[in-house]
Parts: sequence; structure tokens; C-alpha cells
Amino acid sequence: MSGRWALAIHGGAGTILRSKMTPDKEAAYHDGLRRALAAGVTVLRNGGAALDAVTEAVVALEDEPLFNAGRGAVYTSAGEQEMDAAVMDGRNRQAGAVAGIFGPRNPVRVARLVLDRPQVLIAGAPAVDLARQAGLPFGDRAYFHTEARWTALQETLAGRTDDDPARRHGTVGAVAVDAHGNLAAATSTGGMTGKAPGRIGDTPIIGGGTFADNATCAVSGTGHGEVFIRWTAAAEIAARMRHAGQTLDQAATAVVMEDLAPNDGTGGLVAVDRHGNIAMPFNCEGMYRGMVRQGEEAKTLIYR
Ligand code: ASP
Repeated sequence: MSGRWALAIHGGAGTILRSKMTPDKEAAYHDGLRRALAAGVTVLRNGGAALDAVTEAVVALEDEPLFNAGRGAVYTSAGEQEMDAAVMDGRNRQAGAVAGIFGPRNPVRVARLVLDRPQVLIAGAPAVDLARQAGLPFGDRAYFHTEARWTALQETLAGRTDDDPARRHGTVGAVAVDAHGNLAAATSTGGMTGKAPGRIGDTPIIGGGTFADNATCAVSGTGHGEVFIRWTAAAEIAARMRHAGQTLDQAATAVVMEDLAPNDGTGGLVAVDRHGNIAMPFNCEGMYRGMVRQGEEAKTLIYR
């Protein structure tokens, strides 16, 4: 072991507007983020792999109903929940992703199952079957339901989308470099409120919302998924580093501010390189986020 490990997480861009945030709610978001950082740190502190650290951090966020992933996922226009998730290992670019699944409590664990298979992305019922065969825990409609997400759907369907973006989307994700210098990324989401049935966002699209390569960076995105896909947001950051010699911060900021922002791509991302540099740019009011590096205090943030 040589390098310094680092971990960054997000609980989605498009936070509750500052004007609508209460001290209690704010404390609950920070708690949720801190628990996720702690889950990842437990792995990294013991010399564990970045891939395991990002998985455990995302599991903690999926289990927290405040965030739009796993428990607390948003509803489609048909009133269903369809979840997407991905993981990627920077050592060898092995990747696993699932799309449009309902049932497994932790979609990111199903993505991990896919990572160990010859496929990269498995959609729908066959992915759920993999989880069942592996004995992963399942939840029913009551487990995944939250009143806030249901209300947000009713408002979206009635055309009453207020100015509160947090009601409509979100996503959770984590990126890490471990003490061995290996990178990994994981992302999980319910998608966007009122999305068309079968719609798949950027989260499970490798190079769109999730990417990891030891040679450059690990990235996990959150925001308007279609734009992240069309601008290959996560892969573009790696490409800028590799071909244009940009730093992690330069590359991540350019993609979020110059590629995504002018093209209706509201959102943000967390990214890390093998030196433990962390970038967390976003182009909206806030992004639930947190970071911790070996030997430093963990930090959680919501607004600028
Ligand atoms: N990127 C997610 C999606 O489009 C949603 C979000 O992060 O807000 O599915």
C-alpha cells in the first residue's frame, strides 16, 4: 500500500431550494451523506478496494429514503418505479449495469453481479432474476414508496411542476481511489419523476453517467440524463485528461459548465483521480455531496 485513499459521494443535483430547506431536513440530508461516507471509509481504511468502497457507499444512499435511488426512488408516468445502476472498476474497465429494474433493494449490488459476467448492461426482468438467484434482499411497493415522491408524480402529471427540482429527480453515486491506486465509480437512480415507462437515463450508460479508468479518473454524474448521454459526459472528462492534458478539475468543470449547462444539462458530478484529487462541480443551486481523504475530516455539503 502506498497512496492516499479518497472518496467522494453525491446524493443528487437538483437539491431542495434553499428557501424551502428547514434545519431538520438539512440535518437529515447531512446525516445520510455522512453514513454513506462512513460505509465507504470502513472499506478504504482497511486497505479494501475502491470498487467495494463505492458499492457500500451507494448501498447506504439507496437505503436512505431521502435520496432518489433504491428506497425513495421516483415514479414513472405510469406510477411504477424503474431503477438504473452501474459500477465500474478502473483497474481493467470491467463494468456492470442494470436498467429498469424493480424489486432488489440495492440495484447497485445487481450491477456488481453483472460486472462479474461477460455482459455490461442487463435490463428488466432478467436482471431481477440474477438478483434473486444470488439471494439479494428484495423490497415490495410499500418498502420503496415515499409520500413525497408520489406527490411529486401527481403534480408532474397535473402539469403543476413547481420550481423545486428536488421533487423531480436526484441520483446517488460514489467515486474512490484506494490505497493501491485503483479507481472505481458507482451510480444508482430512480431516474426522473414522470419519466416514460422504459426510459433509461445516463446512470447505467458507461461513459455517460458512470466511468472509471485508473489512467485518468472515476466519475459519477447526476442531472438531466439525456444530455449527459448525448455529451458522453463522464467519458469526455477522461478524454480531456488523456488527450488534452487537463487536470481533473479543469476537465470536470469544463464538461459541467461548457458542455452540459448551455444544453439544458442541469446537474453535476463527483470525480476523483489516482492522486486523490477530487472535483465536485455542478451547474444548479445545489448538489448533496461529501468527500473524505485519508488523514482528513469528512465534509458534507449541499449548496455552494
Ligand atoms: N441522471 C438521472 C437520470 O437522468 C437523474 C438525476 O440524476 O437527477 O436518470
